[in-house]
Amino acid sequence: MTLLKGKPASEELLLQLKRRTRSLAEVRGDPPHLAVIAVGGDPSSQIYLRRKLQACKDAGIECTLESLPENITEAETLRIVKNLGDDPAVDGIILELPLPPHLSENALTDALAPEKDVEGVTRINLGRLYCEKKLESIEESDALIPCTAHAIIRLLRETGVSVPGKHAVVVGRSNIVGKPAAHLLSCLDATVTLCHSKSSDLDTIISGADIVVAAAGRPGLIRGNWIKRGSVVIDAGITSDGRKIQGDVEFESARRRAAFITPVPGGVGPLTVTYLLYNTVLSAERRTKKTLEG
Ligand code: NAD
Repeated sequence: MTLLKGKPASEELLLQLKRRTRSLAEVRGDPPHLAVIAVGGDPSSQIYLRRKLQACKDAGIECTLESLPENITEAETLRIVKNLGDDPAVDGIILELPLPPHLSENALTDALAPEKDVEGVTRINLGRLYCEKKLESIEESDALIPCTAHAIIRLLRETGVSVPGKHAVVVGRSNIVGKPAAHLLSCLDATVTLCHSKSSDLDTIISGADIVVAAAGRPGLIRGNWIKRGSVVIDAGITSDGRKIQGDVEFESARRRAAFITPVPGGVGPLTVTYLLYNTVLSAERRTKKTLEG
């Protein structure tokens, strides 16, 4: 069994991003610029927020934080989101979730400029993503790949396992993780089964999987003895009980059967943040190219 840690791939990617950031700064005078909108002070998102800000600093990416008060109106928040979209000095925008209950997540997400949507959450971005059939063509298109799904695919590629024709099972169908991961696997020519909370016979389905991607947020949902021997297991699940972080897969028993398995924490997580930087740099490069081409 090989442990698929996120850190080595993350460090390699970060080196490339630092180079690309430097050359962008030479071409246009400024490094890539990420704007983060955080409404209120939801404690669950504070840790991730600090991690993102630090990661930007490490990569030489400028990051500005728009800290908005908890009681801000939706109209005012919309205005800020749209202003950042129109601001030529901003390359990427993140809207931190969860939002306070009086703000509509759909309305605010829809107001994000799709070409600056570095988390890949807007409908326009997702539509662009699902219209592409190959990973290479996604890179060349206007789409930005949601970061966790991208991290999952990168770890799969790190295994060197040939994917075409393999049976991949994705557990979780959210717009941000499960669905894009399933689409990217189909772009790699895997045969994909997408499971969710209403799926029956999860054990039978998973026991036939060459590749398992877990993104349900249910600790221990996927039993170790369901795992097919020699398979690849990528666990994106993160559940914290305040003391420890757990994935969706029963790690100790699954590791005895899998050929490759991600640890939680330390697998998908570290790479996800790096793919956020990746999308910011990519967005900056695309925008600069468009400006130069006039
Ligand atoms: P979500 O709650 O939006 O979606 C969960 C999905 O799991 C749903 O589609 C649901 O149908 C499915 N599901 C729930 N219970 C199930 C069950 N018993 N059997 C089968 N399917 C079931 O969550 P999300 O935003 O997609 O996140 C999923 C997990 O990934 C969470 O643990 C989250 O913390 C984690 N996550 C990790 C990263 C990372 O960087 N590693 C990033 C984002 C999310």
